[in-house]
Amino acid sequence: MLHFIDVILPIPLQKAFTYHITEAEAEFLSVGMRVAVPFGKSKIYTALVYSIHQNPPLAYDAKTIHQIIDDTPVIVTSQLKHWEWIANYYMCSLGEVMRAAMPNAFMLESETMISKNEKTEILDSELKDEEYLIYEALSRQSSLKIQDVVSILDKKRVLPIINGLVKKGVVNLHEEMYEKYTPKLVRYVKLHYNHKSSEKLQELLEVLSRAPKQREVVLTLFTMEAALKKPIKVAELAEKSGASTSIIKALIDKSILEEYHLQMDRVQFEGEGDASAKRLSEVQQLAYDEVEAVFQEKPVALLHGVTSSGKTEIYVQLIQKQLDLGKQVLYLLPEIALTTQLVNRLQDYFGEKVAVFHSRYSGNERVEVWQNMLANSEKAQVVIGARSSLLLPFRNLGLIIVDEEHEQSYKQFDPAPRYHARDAAIVLANIFKAKTLLGSATPSLESYFNARQGKYGLVELKTRFNNVLMPDIELVDLADKYKRKRMKGHFSDRLIEEMTETLEEGFQIILFQNRRGFSPIIECTTCGTSPQCPNCDVSLTYHQYRDQLRCHYCGYNSAMLQTCQACGNATLDTKGFGTEQIEAEVKTLFPDKKVARMDLDTTRGKYGFEKIITGFEQREVDILVGTQMLTKGLDFRYVKLVGIMNADNLLNFPDFRAHERSYQLMAQVSGRAGRTDLRGKVLIQTYNPHHNILQQVSTNAYEAMFTEQMNERHNFKYPPIYRLIKITFKHKDYNRVNLAADWYATSLKQLFKTNVLGPEFPPVSRIRNLYHKNIIIKIPPQQSLARTKEAIIKIDNSFNAVKDFRSVRVVINVDNY
Ligand code: ADP
Ligand code: ZN
Repeated sequence: MLHFIDVILPIPLQKAFTYHITEAEAEFLSVGMRVAVPFGKSKIYTALVYSIHQNPPLAYDAKTIHQIIDDTPVIVTSQLKHWEWIANYYMCSLGEVMRAAMPNAFMLESETMISKNEKTEILDSELKDEEYLIYEALSRQSSLKIQDVVSILDKKRVLPIINGLVKKGVVNLHEEMYEKYTPKLVRYVKLHYNHKSSEKLQELLEVLSRAPKQREVVLTLFTMEAALKKPIKVAELAEKSGASTSIIKALIDKSILEEYHLQMDRVQFEGEGDASAKRLSEVQQLAYDEVEAVFQEKPVALLHGVTSSGKTEIYVQLIQKQLDLGKQVLYLLPEIALTTQLVNRLQDYFGEKVAVFHSRYSGNERVEVWQNMLANSEKAQVVIGARSSLLLPFRNLGLIIVDEEHEQSYKQFDPAPRYHARDAAIVLANIFKAKTLLGSATPSLESYFNARQGKYGLVELKTRFNNVLMPDIELVDLADKYKRKRMKGHFSDRLIEEMTETLEEGFQIILFQNRRGFSPIIECTTCGTSPQCPNCDVSLTYHQYRDQLRCHYCGYNSAMLQTCQACGNATLDTKGFGTEQIEAEVKTLFPDKKVARMDLDTTRGKYGFEKIITGFEQREVDILVGTQMLTKGLDFRYVKLVGIMNADNLLNFPDFRAHERSYQLMAQVSGRAGRTDLRGKVLIQTYNPHHNILQQVSTNAYEAMFTEQMNERHNFKYPPIYRLIKITFKHKDYNRVNLAADWYATSLKQLFKTNVLGPEFPPVSRIRNLYHKNIIIKIPPQQSLARTKEAIIKIDNSFNAVKDFRSVRVVINVDNY
């Protein structure tokens, strides 16, 4: 009898591919194990066994597999089921989902190299025979491919042996030579708890009378703590006391001083008790109970709690409950890089049980998390991660928390799978009969709509923790300020007044500007031409720091031009303004204050965010200027003033969600102000102070915003009433894109009539030398989504059969908003 396996290959191939296997292999293999298989002329891929059967493929001769990689499956059934849902719903291949899910280090391809680890010395006798053969081969040549090992050992299952060598430290795999992630934390120091009272301190000083240097350190620390009322860095203490760090270390070793890292103890420093016991306030407890009650009846609850209402503490209790039940929890965050604060907070509570699946982690560490999860290890009970952590091998999931559920970054745009993590989370939870909690101060319209419809349960928290007042929001009319000449650069007199006052009181300021760069656009004042990107249909942005023009779409850059390329006059001038320019202006307005900037340009490197956030938390910086990055759930204690430099470019963005998003952004940025006892202040500068959204933001009127926006969505047939699928065509030839999009649209219109919009060029119609054209399909509430997709697939198949269109890239994006 012949045996075959169907495998999932990490490529956009709609059908599963079939390979021939031997009887013995058929007995050994099971679904979810990895195999290396040949594909095309010379490529070898790591693939996953999808099914084992006896049916030869009809269209081609099945090739044999190269090697079996695993002893046991690396994925689990529930996971595969979820992947299938994603592939099906978001119209992509299972292979594309697999590629997004599996850590790179798992997907060894033909070029995986094995090399000797020169650091390890090992005796021949410590190696098994097969290991020795590889070891010996490596002393003759510097590296081996997996395929070489297959021929040296003359067998297909070589990975266990290679892994054995890796474990012994004898060899390195190419994929594993990543730098290890070690978050850079600042060391702080304080007097150990045991010596806090004044009697205890007295005793201590007597004991130390024979160690004057140590005594001096303790005294200095005591004075510093009293005077500065903020955390003391080890480095500062060393400097002030004149002691070497080894003396401080000796004190730490003796438990006289206590060393700690910022996050963990920022809370302790405020004397709020230790990490294990934070009692919920009455309001929080009520919300918690309501969530529990919802879960009795519904799989999803939406927790709508204003900024700083203490949602995180409610999550913590819910997590604890699942852990007590022996279940796993997934905590989803929009962007893991921005959430060191939260990760530390959760690690304080749940310690080792917390696993972070970090996009900036090396392949190695991701594999570790994956394997811990496969083994349902203690170390992977609370998984924190961004959207791709949904694709991990959960064993016993009880709850998914989707924090900041309104965040746009939950949706993946490129490459496929173009999934929305919030929606995919609810599906995953259902597979486990688990619950999903969506949390936000500014829920997305679709979630709030679902809650209003009764599909989700709704729990509201309308007051801030400790009854801190919501910030006082003031709108500043820019037109009026300009007219009366009350502006200095982009700063109104009101903003400058409030900034001066805040700084005098010793508090910090956040300034929000929705654009990076110095000044988005350069324009010639003689002929009106703006320098354009040669690859994209977009104006270049001026970056003062490097005196460069840059394209924000493709990264193209050139030195700043001296003269206009169109008319040759030296009359290029800036138009509009970005974060860099705000930063420069702040420096002139407040020359003796420290300013920092947080945007894509300043946060590039691995610890870019951490550096800026930590600096701000430690109050090394007085004024932080930034883009949307500032909005993502950061918890700073000493920010009293938030300034939104210009609300209009948010409101005028050409997108049906622009108003909803403006509300969310402004409410979230405002929420960074006054998070402790002091009431925060927010100034929003705008040319349209009477705009409804601004009125709603300033009165914290989420429901009014919801009702008004929902009316618009009804009237203009947009989500969450209608659903959308966007189809994008890309090609370097302008005419071909037009023809292809027209052909497609005509076919679609025969079925869906006026619910097909376009084809239309997007605002930026050429990116990286490819022309883009879009079609949008609007799907009315009563129309079946599944049937609509089937119809699209049919049209897509006929489209691909047209020879001229084969080189056109077609990207289908379901729920593209
Ligand atoms: P949100 O996530 O709703 O914006 P947080 O959970 O960050 O709010 O809480 C705001 C602040 O209040 C945090 O600094 C947090 O430490 C504090 N806090 C919240 N709940 C409690 C509690 N039960 N006991 C003590 N402090 C709390
Ligand atoms: Zn470009």
